[in-house]
Amino acid sequence: MTDQYTFQDPTKQFPKAGPEYEQQQEGPGLQQDMAPKPDSGETSYVGKGRLTGRKAVVTGADSGIGRAAAIAYAREGADVVLSYMPEEEPDAQEVVKLIEAEGRKAVAVPGDVKDEQYCVNLIETAVKELGGLDILAIVAGKQQFVESIDELTTEQFDETFKTNVYAMFWLCKAAIKHMPPGGSIINTSSIQAYKPAPILLDYATTKAAINTFSKALAQQVAEKGIRVNVVAPGPVWTPLQVAGGQPPEKLPSFGEQTPLGRPGQPVEMAPAYVFLASQESSYVSGETLNANGGMPTP
Ligand code: NAD
Ligand code: MG
Repeated sequence: MTDQYTFQDPTKQFPKAGPEYEQQQEGPGLQQDMAPKPDSGETSYVGKGRLTGRKAVVTGADSGIGRAAAIAYAREGADVVLSYMPEEEPDAQEVVKLIEAEGRKAVAVPGDVKDEQYCVNLIETAVKELGGLDILAIVAGKQQFVESIDELTTEQFDETFKTNVYAMFWLCKAAIKHMPPGGSIINTSSIQAYKPAPILLDYATTKAAINTFSKALAQQVAEKGIRVNVVAPGPVWTPLQVAGGQPPEKLPSFGEQTPLGRPGQPVEMAPAYVFLASQESSYVSGETLNANGGMPTP
């Protein structure tokens, strides 16, 4: 187990997928029940005080990439409000313990981001419990593959847009009212925004919308001293992928198509979320940081 500072070959830093990656869970899925388990930095991410005293909301904070961002934020010195679905309580409680072990405050606020009132309450809770809010990392997302447009229901199309696009709108709107100059919003797109898989019609479309929304909003709130950026992951080993994100038979070769030849681990996304939240990125706004194993993007 190495930290994010150890010099090494990125093609070998984490394993390729294999037959043991073929597995399936009911959505939203639990990281606890995956084997092999994703690495969200639980034992490896080392903080350097880059977010000392900061106040963060992270959605999808129970598992995968959001969990990695939440752990990293706490290790960098931030207090964190965690959003996740009630069914994900066992994963979320592990994250709460890890954050508290850093001496940081963790506030768990389970709920459904498809509900506007929950989104508003989440932000209001953060302001009250943390005494303000200066980082909003929106990592929650819905991805459910469907082979054909004939089988893609209006219900799913609506849920994917509500989770990935509307929630982003509601959360940003609620948060900007409270953010001081220096505040940072980080949204989560995907390689799917530029290279859409045919079986991810609804999902890929939302990810392009997230990039465009963020570029527009970044210009609008720049004068307030608030920055808006995006992280766009490639194939990362998380519950999303084993709970309907991919056909299970595709998982043994998950990530093989990337130039680096392997899936990413959630912990490899964490430094992007930290950089974009911290003052180190003071002159970066409206940008999408691709962390996708080397696949070219527009
Ligand atoms: P994940 O399953 O660990 O995280 C997704 C989280 O979204 C869940 O844990 C859940 O808490 C949250 N969520 C979903 N629907 C919700 C709802 N209605 N209300 C509240 N919370 C809800 O998987 P992940 O891969 O870490 O996904 C995180 C983000 O990364 C997503 O936006 C996803 O689109 C994006 N992404 C993932 C990959 C990948 O390969 N894993 C690639 C590109 C982008
Ligand atoms: Mg989860």
